[in-house]
Amino acid sequence: MFTPIKYNEPVLRPPAEAYSAIIQATIGCSWNKCAFCEMYSSKKFKTRKLEELKNEIKVLADILPGTKKIFLADGNAFVLSANKLLPILSEINTQFGKIQRISSYALPKDILSKSDSELKELRKNGLKLLYVGIETGNDDLLKMIRKGETFNSSVDGILKAHHSGIDTSIMIINGLGGTEYSTRHAIDSAKIISKIKPKFLSTLTLSLPYGENHFQNKFKGNYQQQSIKDLFKELKLFIENIDTHNTIYRSDHVSNNLILKGTLNKDKNQLISVLNTAINDTKPEILPQTAKIL
Ligand code: SF4
Repeated sequence: MFTPIKYNEPVLRPPAEAYSAIIQATIGCSWNKCAFCEMYSSKKFKTRKLEELKNEIKVLADILPGTKKIFLADGNAFVLSANKLLPILSEINTQFGKIQRISSYALPKDILSKSDSELKELRKNGLKLLYVGIETGNDDLLKMIRKGETFNSSVDGILKAHHSGIDTSIMIINGLGGTEYSTRHAIDSAKIISKIKPKFLSTLTLSLPYGENHFQNKFKGNYQQQSIKDLFKELKLFIENIDTHNTIYRSDHVSNNLILKGTLNKDKNQLISVLNTAINDTKPEILPQTAKIL
């Protein structure tokens, strides 16, 4: 899509925002320390001036008047205070006539830093969905990947968003801890999903764009790469242990070795059956490719 907006590249967004207009409210990620993530390693985090954003929103509204969804980039635009976010949302609502949903990436700490009334005000102004990469429910692994969050902080942040009427789309990374932490990762990740019962859940697969050694140097544990067969087994254990209600589940990211789609718990048996077939059909020695996937 051609736009006269000069984005600060790379611009990344969740697969579900493929048809959304993107407003770069922040540049980079305010945390930028996760061991597995190279998405914004080339960028220094900064916020953008409201006047600049107003100009861009006006330009986008003129050329894309039918836009229904807006995604606020980059890594965690929700780090902005409610005082900074509200004028941006207001400008979006004024300039675009048919907005149904505004969304952004968020860390649990970005949600917890806002009061209930601020979250409700943001929701009232169209911020309806937050994408939260909790990555794993296992506290040891969260430390090893330097996520800066815990099982409890993730639960608290996400439930606080839900309580204010903001839905969440949660990401878990298949293979995040390698062979040694696989079982704990699957079980504790299922535990956290069962506790928060998000509207959307997706699994991505650990990708090592700069190779295993680069990741090893940042990962504070003993990482041993899993075969694709073992990744499927980990995913099966994760899904088997989830207890949620009407959570729309997708495993359709470019990093995934198998596409899975369903609603949990309703489609749990069908997803497990697809995974059983994949496990039986996959040779144990096949390793995932480590091409650059960001
Ligand atoms: S995974 Fe998210 S929070 Fe972690 S460094 Fe990447 S963008 Fe930032």
